[in-house]
Amino acid sequence: MKIENLKDWGFDLKRPWIIAGPCSVETEEQLLDTSKQIQKLGINIIRGGVWKPRTRPDTFEGVGSAALPWIQNVKKETGLSFMIEVGNPKHVEEALKHDIDILWIGARSTVNPFTVQEIAEAIRGVDIPVLVKNPINPDLALWIGAIERISRVGISRIAAIHRGFSSFQNTRYRNLPMWSIPIDLKRNLPEIPMICDPSHIGGSRDLIFEISQKAIDLDYDGLIIESHRDPDRAWSDAKQQITPTTLALIMKNLKYRTPTSEDKDFITQLEGLRDQIDHIDKELFEIMAQRMDIVEEIGLYKKRNNVTVFQKDRWKEIYETRRLWAAKLNLNPEFMADLFKIIHDASIRRQEYIMNNPIETTEDEKHEFTGEHPDNV
Ligand code: PEP
Ligand code: MN
Repeated sequence: MKIENLKDWGFDLKRPWIIAGPCSVETEEQLLDTSKQIQKLGINIIRGGVWKPRTRPDTFEGVGSAALPWIQNVKKETGLSFMIEVGNPKHVEEALKHDIDILWIGARSTVNPFTVQEIAEAIRGVDIPVLVKNPINPDLALWIGAIERISRVGISRIAAIHRGFSSFQNTRYRNLPMWSIPIDLKRNLPEIPMICDPSHIGGSRDLIFEISQKAIDLDYDGLIIESHRDPDRAWSDAKQQITPTTLALIMKNLKYRTPTSEDKDFITQLEGLRDQIDHIDKELFEIMAQRMDIVEEIGLYKKRNNVTVFQKDRWKEIYETRRLWAAKLNLNPEFMADLFKIIHDASIRRQEYIMNNPIETTEDEKHEFTGEHPDNV
């Protein structure tokens, strides 16, 4: 798959790439005013929904095609670039007719391969960037599939937008971030630019900063943030939109980190610490090997005495004591309990193998178990 690096997309992009704009284009005046305020922050790409995929009918479903000439006017007046969501081939055709610069595929479209394929066919032969949001359900293959469909019609300026996953659980997020899924996407497609949408993940203004910072810490390439000149009166997603002034504050407070540093002291320090980690990990492995040896010894002992491999009370004791030890050492008890479950499972499997296979003990071992050693007999 050919994916163009963001810096070659032809926009004047600084890392992290920030896209902002209203959830929906409402009026020409709202769009012009909001866009001009956002432009003052050094942002040169504006988002705005024209056709809105709403969960229930009888809610505001976007201005529709009437908004496209407004966008053209605001483009002319400000020189900004615009991106909108397309959900079918008609949307694509209209967007292209009205000089839209970037298209995005929404979460409700990514879930449907028929829809994605139809959109892809409508874009075939056009050189326009396409951003693909994750599907609403946590299905990595669907997300990759949508990106592949767009790539196969000749689009090379492709990026992924992580907007979270819907869940039946009641959580503090509107859409669960499930960070491991975008990280897995990056593992599958290392060259794909990854953009975080904290507005749709959080669903509320006060989560935008925290989610954006996490994305930057995870080395995302950009952020797409909903911003409206008067969020409380927005026609859609009012709770999660922020004013351009708040956006400026968030951008100022975000800590930008780089994956590497040229600083000599930093490199020496980091190498020293990594060296220590390597040593500790090696010790962990050696200790784990010792533990496994004892597990095998116990397995043989159980076999000889016709005792079951799994003993409920022992597991309960392990689980409880390890959680306590973890808490005392300032380690996360849940994490250590999970880790111990994996270690315990592996030990049980090892002992089951011993039980079910003709593994004979050496003379030495036999005597160790009975306390008798041939030399002493
Ligand atoms: C949007 O960006 O306004 C939108 C509808 O997003 P999503 O497809 O992520 O729900
Ligand atoms: Mn929205």
